[in-house]
Amino acid sequence: MADKIEYSNKDITIVWQPKLCQHSAVCVKTLPNVYKPDEKPWISIENASTQELKNQINKCPSGALIYYENKQ
Ligand code: SF4
Repeated sequence: MADKIEYSNKDITIVWQPKLCQHSAVCVKTLPNVYKPDEKPWISIENASTQELKNQINKCPSGALIYYENKQ
């Protein structure tokens, strides 16, 4: 499995690190239209606004999900 997988929209890039993920499903419960564990790719970044994504990523308990701002 890759160490990290990145997903971008026009503003930010989400980085998911599977080895850190505790599968607590906080992300899935918060934004079920974005995080779909049964699908590949499992993150549909286009289904939430940048602000919604940031709010949710900040709640990931393990630090498996982080984001950075895209360079303009
Ligand atoms: S909230 Fe974080 S630790 Fe929990 S399932 Fe999502 S990515 Fe993994």
